[in-house]
Amino acid sequence: MNAEFTSETGRETPDETSIVQFRFYEELNDFLPADRFKQTFAHAFTRRASVKDMIEAFGVPHTEVELIIVNGRSVDFTYIVSDRDCISVYPMFESLDIRPLLRLRPEPLRHPAFVLDTQLGRLARYLRLLGFDTLYRNDYTDAGIAHISSEQQRTLLTRDRRLLHRSIITRGYFVRSTDPLEQVSEVLHRFDLFNDVNPLKRCIRCNGLLSKVDKQAVFDRLEPKTKRYYEDFRICNDCRQVYWEGSHFRKMLELIDSFRKKRDHGDPAQT
Ligand SMILES: [Zn+2]
Repeated sequence: MNAEFTSETGRETPDETSIVQFRFYEELNDFLPADRFKQTFAHAFTRRASVKDMIEAFGVPHTEVELIIVNGRSVDFTYIVSDRDCISVYPMFESLDIRPLLRLRPEPLRHPAFVLDTQLGRLARYLRLLGFDTLYRNDYTDAGIAHISSEQQRTLLTRDRRLLHRSIITRGYFVRSTDPLEQVSEVLHRFDLFNDVNPLKRCIRCNGLLSKVDKQAVFDRLEPKTKRYYEDFRICNDCRQVYWEGSHFRKMLELIDSFRKKRDHGDPAQT
C-alpha cells in the first residue's frame, strides 16, 4: 500500500491509473504539442498531484492561467486532481466578466508595472518610451528577478518559460515573438494597454520619471537643429537625460496607431 496513490476522495485504489480530460483554451495552446492543440485530450496518471503541477507538467506556466474549471466548478491551483475530472484551463480574459468565478489571484493581471528578463532589453526601452514602469537590467539572476516581481507586484515578461514555473511569481507572461517591435504589440494587446500609452513620461535609459524643463536650462546641451525646431523639453529626475518630441517619438506613435487599428478591425490573416 502506498498512500501517495490514494486521492483525497478515496475513489481510487492504490496502483490504479486515473484518467482525466483536459482542455486548454486560446493562447494557452501556444505551449502544447500538435496532438493536444485546441482539443480535449485524456491524461492518465497514478501519482497524486495538484492541478497546478499537472498544468505545468504539460509545459504551460501557471502565470499564464487565469481560471480553472473542474467539472463545472472553479478551483484554485491547490486542487488535487481526481479520477474522471473534466478540467478546462483558461488564460486571462480581456473582456469577459468572470467575477462570479474564482480568480486565481487577488486581482487581475492588469497592474501595468513590469520587470523584464535579461533577453528583453529592447522591449524594455520601448515600454519605457511608451511611459510604462519597466525595470530591466542585463545582469538580473533568475532568483533576483523572481523576487522583484513578487515583492513589487510587477508582471514578469520573459522568453524563458521555466522562469514562470517559480511559484512566488503570480504575475507573468511568456513573450512569444523574438522581434522587439512585435513584442511591443504583443504586450500592448495582452494587457490591453493602448489607452495607457504616455510618451515623454519615463526615461528610456533608467525608467525615472520625466519633468518639464525650461529650454534655457538645457540649451547648452542641445544640438543646433534641436535648438532651432523644438520648444518643449523634459528631463529625467534621476539621471538628468534630456528628451523632446523628436522624430523617433512620432514614429513610435504611428506604430502604436497601426497596432491599434489592427486590433480594432481584426486581422483576417490571423483568424
Ligand atoms: Zn533617466
